Amino acid sequence: MAIEKLLREIVGEANVLTDSRDTAPYFTDWRRLYSAQALCVVRPASTAEVARVVALCARERVAVVPQGGNTGLVGGSVPTGLVRELVLSLSRMDRILGIDPLNDTVSVEAGCVLANVQRAADEAGRLFPLSLAAEGSCQIGGNLSTNAGGVNVLRYGSARDQVLGLEVVLPDGRVWNGMRALRKDNTGYDLKQLFLGAEGTLGVITGAVLRLYPKPSATATAWIAAASPHAAVELLGELRARLGDRISAFELVSRNCLEAVLKHVPGSRDPLGEPHPWYVLAEFGDSSAGLRERVEEALGSREAAIAQSVEQGRALWRIRESIPEAQFSNVKHDISVPVSKIAEFVARAGAALAKAFGTIEVYCFGHVGDGNLHYNVGDQALLARREAVNAVVYEAVADLGGSISAEHGLGQLKREAIRTQKDPIELELMRALKKALDPAGLMNPGKVL
Ligand code: FAD
Repeated sequence: MAIEKLLREIVGEANVLTDSRDTAPYFTDWRRLYSAQALCVVRPASTAEVARVVALCARERVAVVPQGGNTGLVGGSVPTGLVRELVLSLSRMDRILGIDPLNDTVSVEAGCVLANVQRAADEAGRLFPLSLAAEGSCQIGGNLSTNAGGVNVLRYGSARDQVLGLEVVLPDGRVWNGMRALRKDNTGYDLKQLFLGAEGTLGVITGAVLRLYPKPSATATAWIAAASPHAAVELLGELRARLGDRISAFELVSRNCLEAVLKHVPGSRDPLGEPHPWYVLAEFGDSSAGLRERVEEALGSREAAIAQSVEQGRALWRIRESIPEAQFSNVKHDISVPVSKIAEFVARAGAALAKAFGTIEVYCFGHVGDGNLHYNVGDQALLARREAVNAVVYEAVADLGGSISAEHGLGQLKREAIRTQKDPIELELMRALKKALDPAGLMNPGKVL
C-alpha cells in the first residue's frame, strides 16, 4: 500500500497534503533559498499520531523533516529532495496543556506559536521571556530545536534555558516522556539537552514544560545614539553597573539598517532628529517604582529617546524587528564573539571585506549584549559570491574565538562550513550521538551533520 494511504489512516484524509498548491509553503524556506519536493506533508494532532507516523516512516525507510512555523533561516525545516522524505508539520499540536503558577511553569504542545505561549503566561500574571521577531509564526518546537535566542537572552538566557521537561518521539517511533516540571533533578545524563538545538536530527519534540518568571511591573524602552560598536559595548558595561539585571535587551543597530527600515516600512520614523552612525535599542524591566527615572539618570546627557508610552516603545521595537525584512537579499551571517571583541570583529571583518571586494554595504545589527551580531553583506548580486564572502567573515570570527552560528543553527546552509570550524573531536562526538539515536539516518537527513 502506498505510504500516503497508510498515513491517512493515522492522521485522517485532510491531514496528508499532496497537492502542490497545498504543499508549496511547506517545501520552501522563509528566505526562499531552499525549495525541494517531498512525498507529502503530514499534520498529526497528537503525540500518539506523531509516534505512529514516525514508526511507519522507520519501517518504510522514509525520512522525516519536522517543521514548526518554517521561519528558520538556515534551510533546516524543508526537504532536501535527495531522499524519500516527508514533512511532518506540528502546527495542529497547538494546545497549552496547563499553567502551574506556584511552580512557575507552563506545559505546552510543540506546535504552540510562541506569541500564544507569551500571551498565556501574561494572562496568568507571569512572563515567558523568549521573544523574537518571528514570534507570531514560529513554534515552541522550532524554538527549542534551534535553541532560539532573540532579544531577552541577556537577562533570561536562550530557549534552552527555559526548558524543564521535554517529550520527544524518537526516530523509531517510541515516545520519551520527560515532561518533568523539576528545577532540580540530578539523576544521570540530562537527556533533554540532546534534543534542544538538534534541529530535528535526533527526534521530534512533541511537548515541553517551560519556566515562567515574575512579570516586571514597569518597563522602559530607550533608543540611544552610539558613536561606534565600542561605545555601545562600553555603554552596556556602564548601564549594567548602574542598573544591574534590570537590562533585559541591548540591541545594536547601524545607521544603514535604520535607513533601510525607514525606506521599507511606511509610517516609520527616525527616533532621533540627527543621524548617528550607530544606535542601541535597550529595554529595562523592574518590579519597583521609579524605573524610568533610574534609566534617565543612568543615560545622563546621552542623545536618547525614551519611550513615553507603551505605543512609543512598540514603535521603537518595530524598527528593530523590521530590519530582517528591510534588507532581505544579501549574504547573511549570524556570528558571535565575546562581547569584549565585538568592536574588533566589526573593524576586522569590515577591513577584510573592503580589501577583498572594494566598497561594500554591510548591514550590522543584533544582540550585542550577547556578543551576537547579524552581519549582512552586500546585495542580491553578491549572493553568487557567497562562499568568498563567508570565508572572509568566518576568518575574522575564528581569529576572535567566535561561532559562525550564534542562534540560527546549521541546517543546510552551514552544514559544510562547520566542518572546518569545529574541533574534529567535537564533530566525531556529534556523529556518534546521531548514530546512537538515529542509526538509519532518517531524522532530518542532510541537516547539521
Ligand atoms: P522551523 O523553521 O519550522 O524549524 C527550524 C528547525 O527546527 C528545523 O531544523 C526543523 O526541522 C526543526 N524543528 C521544528 N519543529 C520541530 C519539532 N517539533 N521537533 C524537532 N525538530 C523541529 N532566531 C533566533 O534565534 N533569534 C532571533 O532573533 C530570530 N529572529 C528572526 C526574525 C525573523 C523575521 C525570522 C523570519 C526568523 C528569525 N529567527 C530568529 C529564526 C527563527 O525564527 C528561529 O530559528 C525559530 O526558532 C524557528 O522556529 P520555527 O517554529 O519556525 O521552526
